[in-house]
Amino acid sequence: MASISGKTAIDWAAFAAEIAPVEVIDEPVLVRKRSRDFFWYSPILDRRLKTCFGDLVARPKSPAEMAKCLSLAARHHVPVTLRGGGTGNYGQSVPMDGGLIIDTTAMGEVLEIGRDFVRVEAGCNILKLNTALKERGRELPVFPSTQDIATIGGFISGGSAGIGTVSHGMLRDAGNILEIRVLSAEETPREVVFTGEEINMIHHAWGINGVITELTLRTVPTEDWIGCIATFDSYPTCYAAGMALAASDIRRKLCSTLDARIGSYFDRLKEIVPEERAMLVTLVPRGQMEDFRRLVATHGGQIDLAMDEDERLARKLPHAFEFSYNHTTLQALKTDRKVTYLQILCPAPLNVAKIIELQAVLGDDVYMHHEFSRMGGQLVAFDLPLVRYTTDERLYQIMSLYEAHGCPASDPHSCIIEEGGMKKADYRHLAWKKRLDPLGLLNSAKSREWARVRTMAPEAIEALHQT
Ligand SMILES: Cc1cc2nc3c(=O)[nH]c(=O)nc-3n(C[C@H](O)[C@H](O)[C@H](O)COP(=O)(O)OP(=O)(O)OC[C@H]3O[C@@H](n4cnc5c(N)ncnc54)[C@H](O)[C@@H]3O)c2cc1C
Repeated sequence: MASISGKTAIDWAAFAAEIAPVEVIDEPVLVRKRSRDFFWYSPILDRRLKTCFGDLVARPKSPAEMAKCLSLAARHHVPVTLRGGGTGNYGQSVPMDGGLIIDTTAMGEVLEIGRDFVRVEAGCNILKLNTALKERGRELPVFPSTQDIATIGGFISGGSAGIGTVSHGMLRDAGNILEIRVLSAEETPREVVFTGEEINMIHHAWGINGVITELTLRTVPTEDWIGCIATFDSYPTCYAAGMALAASDIRRKLCSTLDARIGSYFDRLKEIVPEERAMLVTLVPRGQMEDFRRLVATHGGQIDLAMDEDERLARKLPHAFEFSYNHTTLQALKTDRKVTYLQILCPAPLNVAKIIELQAVLGDDVYMHHEFSRMGGQLVAFDLPLVRYTTDERLYQIMSLYEAHGCPASDPHSCIIEEGGMKKADYRHLAWKKRLDPLGLLNSAKSREWARVRTMAPEAIEALHQT
């Protein structure tokens, strides 16, 4: 069987036979489909990744089958890319070196629901997980707006924040992730368990340094959520209301503000949200709707949509959170493929004056979108502005403008882990890669730094973390 990626010299038919009884997918069209994620959000990543494919997909159903895949990959020195729902948006699960794609979605059991925790297999779909928790009056403190498709392992490996971060902090904040179980990529895979602060050795490492098989996560009480959209006559007023909501006693699960021009892309809201009004998108407990109404009125706004789950289903509307986080960009891309986005941090202390200052310098091609969030206990806002794309140079110029005004940019147009959010190598991740993936099989093309440190001892790599 010829290599689909054109990058490997393996006899893939023999490999597929040897991996039995693990289910495999070798149909080139399907392998190519499972080689993609949402990298096409970025015109730069689209150019770079659209011709990167894997060679074979394996779908293990248990940790033992997962271990078999890893053992065989190690024996044949085959590059491996883990894939959950494939909703990452920096090409995180694109197999840049070709090789074996391990689809985790058949390892999707909810193993144990405790009083305030859940133990779950990494390939579990997040909607399935939240539905099981809801039956016990619980839910995840933080989940992505892609919950219908994404897996919990993909979120912990690729994500950082989401619906709930405004109340419960970043995924990495203490207590959200309680335990991560990982298999090494070796001929005899070993299981290693990470707890406490150690979870950050694996969390957000993009599957470069170990294969997550099982997670124990905190849960919080669920609420009768009302999905709301309130509108305001200017973005600064809307942002002020968002700040007030995020700082209030209202137990909101989401607090997003969107420039009025973003709303004009939302076909599903055409009859609901008046034109040219900035939007505040939130989830508020039914019992606190009166407090929310007062907050909106105090800031001169109006509530245009307040729907519970039954009403949402009856009106066939998307979840309110599908107008937040990276779903905002997706909704816009449905009608205009010339838009893209950026990821900017507005650090604490937040103030409206900063927004007005930025609006004055950014230009008409940048439409602000803030996600109010708690990070290390502080209230911050992530700006995921929609940008009308013209050139790569203009994108990077916009990032520089934000940075010059005190708002650091992460580069969502790079598929290299050291160029994204962290902007520097996490040598703890790389030291654990050396320990758990000594052959460098796991998604290695995503790390620029790995090529430099791969021959060093793990302790020597870790020591670089202090420098
Ligand atoms: C419309 C849209 C909205 C989004 N909203 C959010 C959001 O609110 N918050 C957020 O943080 N992100 C968000 N994202 C990014 C992405 O959806 C999330 O990170 C998501 O949870 C990824 O889950 P997944 O199962 O699709 O992972 P995948 O895309 O399949 O994989 C993500 C990364 O994890 C690795 N991986 C997968 N499974 C494992 C495993 N078992 N062990 C080790 N590594 C593994 C992959 O190799 C890859 O590097 C959004 C993306 C889109 C397109």
